[in-house]
Amino acid sequence: MPRVEVFKAIKDGKCMQIAESHEAMERHLLNNWAYDPAERDQWSFEMETADVPLLTADYFVIPGGDDDDRDYPHAAWICPDCGYQETTDIDPDDSPPAIWFSHCKKTTDYVLVTWQQDARQPT
Ligand SMILES: [Zn+2]
Repeated sequence: MPRVEVFKAIKDGKCMQIAESHEAMERHLLNNWAYDPAERDQWSFEMETADVPLLTADYFVIPGGDDDDRDYPHAAWICPDCGYQETTDIDPDDSPPAIWFSHCKKTTDYVLVTWQQDARQPT
């Protein structure tokens, strides 16, 4: 299993966001419903080194609706513990591999997920 650094954002004793880098953490926090920049002093930030399973996701794009010509990239991956198929929205700025929460956290809290971006995805 790859050994990686997991950047964690914690609020009220709970890890609310994880990321593979400081830069990714700041981007993800802006999309996190629990995060308000005005309340940043209620958050703490930690880094943990962990051995996490490396998974390969299926990359796919969901087209926007009639008035929306954007594509919405997603990754489908199988939880290594329970076989559940998880689907994760990918931010256009995300690049693989990414660290996400494991689906059931039975034997691992995190997974490292890589995917092959479709040729239609603008870079
Ligand atoms: Zn699971």
